Amino acid sequence: MHGAPDDPEPTDTPCAAELTAGTAADRRSEARKPLAPGLYLVATPIGNLEDITLRALRVLREADRIACEDTRQTQKLLNHFGIRTPTVSYHAHNESERAAALVEDLKAGGRIAVVSDAGTPGIADPGAVLARAAIAEGVSVFPVPGANALISALVASGLEAERFRFNGFLPSKAGERRTVLEDLQRSSASAREGALAGTTEIFYETPHRIAEALGDVGTVFGPGQPVVVARELTKLHEEFLRGTVAEVRSQLAGRESVRGEMVLLLAPAPLQAPSPDERHVSVRAAIRGLIAGGASEKDALKQVARERGLGKSEVYREWQRERGR
Ligand code: SAM
Repeated sequence: MHGAPDDPEPTDTPCAAELTAGTAADRRSEARKPLAPGLYLVATPIGNLEDITLRALRVLREADRIACEDTRQTQKLLNHFGIRTPTVSYHAHNESERAAALVEDLKAGGRIAVVSDAGTPGIADPGAVLARAAIAEGVSVFPVPGANALISALVASGLEAERFRFNGFLPSKAGERRTVLEDLQRSSASAREGALAGTTEIFYETPHRIAEALGDVGTVFGPGQPVVVARELTKLHEEFLRGTVAEVRSQLAGRESVRGEMVLLLAPAPLQAPSPDERHVSVRAAIRGLIAGGASEKDALKQVARERGLGKSEVYREWQRERGR
């Protein structure tokens, strides 16, 4: 295991930003340390250039080379920030072959930054193949976090943000798209009470396919399915369309054209409250399970009452019913 060597020691505290940030003097001395050898996955803005981080700028400036999905696109960003680090192309079509060459440089002590056209490399973008290849050769891999479309869309969507599933792009072919949506619908319906209950589904979408995708979502999940389309995030025309899939479809249909980048989010299936019968069955099953696991009857009743917020007498009555059967 390694911590980012150009940063202070990591801590166990979940929100440790203040603790790890240190004093201004600490930060200045950190910034003077040379960049450690290794691969740096650097997030870049998804629209608003102010979303570049201070650390991303330093890593891009100090790396030996920047591997870019599109060198011309990245050059605009580098020019804007006055960065003159050489670039090399690293995209979907040369990913494996280029990864092998870059890993050789890394093994020789190189410091290589990877960027995609926008957002976080490796998320629906090149980056993961190179990271895996570097890890396999024992090279250090450092995330340099920042902008990302799915997380930005999720946190401002108003939907459940604790549990979500990112599904990348939906297939472009109608049949395959329906199949993917049907699989998700089945898994979310069967997970209503399980570990995946309350999971927001997230997709990347393109403007020319959003109408078809919403049409299929309506067919598979029903026209009342709540959705959010997050468009042009962090840009001038940023917009969130919220409503049932039928409502959002008609909002978009009323427009002359639909442009820009977008993320589609589906609200989780509503959690189903168990019927009184199901609740009783599950209380009895929980007691049986604890007893089978070695708990005394008394302890099992106490534990189930505590965990479910039920009165002890209610749980006892349920258990008596079981024994009377
Ligand atoms: N690596 C990127 C990231 O971290 O989000 C995603 C790259 S993927 C090739 C491009 C897709 O991301 C777009 O088609 C769109 O679905 C989504 N996207 C990127 N920028 C966006 C933005 N500003 N607003 C909404 N969606 C965006």
